[in-house]
Amino acid sequence: MIIKTEGMILSQRSYRDSEKFLTILTRDQGVIEAKLRQFGQIKRSQFNLIGPLGYFRFDLFVLKQRYTVDAAEKIEDFFPLRYDVEKLALAGYFCELTQSLASPREDAWVYLRLLLNTLALLEKDRRSPAFLKAVFELRALSLGGFMPDLVCCKHCCQFEGKKLYFLPFAGTLVCSDCLPGSPENNQLHIPLAPPVLAAMRYILYKEADKLFQFSLADKPLEQLGKITEYYTLCHMENSKFPSLQLYHQFVNLSTGENHEPAT
Ligand SMILES: [Zn+2]
Repeated sequence: MIIKTEGMILSQRSYRDSEKFLTILTRDQGVIEAKLRQFGQIKRSQFNLIGPLGYFRFDLFVLKQRYTVDAAEKIEDFFPLRYDVEKLALAGYFCELTQSLASPREDAWVYLRLLLNTLALLEKDRRSPAFLKAVFELRALSLGGFMPDLVCCKHCCQFEGKKLYFLPFAGTLVCSDCLPGSPENNQLHIPLAPPVLAAMRYILYKEADKLFQFSLADKPLEQLGKITEYYTLCHMENSKFPSLQLYHQFVNLSTGENHEPAT
């Protein structure tokens, strides 16, 4: 049986010189692995071009739940990202994180939309890499079942006015009145500057088509970035993100600083 779908290639692994396996985030089949071979319509030149960061219209041959690419037509390849190693590493991290979060069987459209929108903004320099990384991490984690509850203090429901602390392991807020004497006082609790909390709430609760329509000054953006990365690594501790390490190395090189990632 042949099925038609669209999908973003998240990763690939070589099998033979003329064969490889692609992990594809499809619009309507979830995350699948499909074999790509040089044969028929797939010539050598196209075989080499079909790889990560490519968004294709696929004809997939399906037999016993195994997929083979029968034809692939490029929709978007985000090629300009390849001219900037920092952006390329970040795009790779977005793919790795998506692959860790999206289940093989679920409707992957929400992840696909987030990934495509984020990569388009990154490619066209519409928003900074640091901004896109923070938004992507928190929103992707939330889609993947790790949505923190940032509505109000978990004990007294205070939602503003008091200093509020974020508990990354529990994914909740506690206010400065409730923190002393509470069990959370012995856990990691991060004081949130009001603009950072407002940005986190925006990322979590805003509808998808307005997700990137806010701004944040450099200092709160830096805090937001540290929190979202820490939150991501806390909850994805069994996943490896080599592209994230690369991204930090390139950022450190370009800024001349020596910041360690939040691992
Ligand atoms: Zn409270």
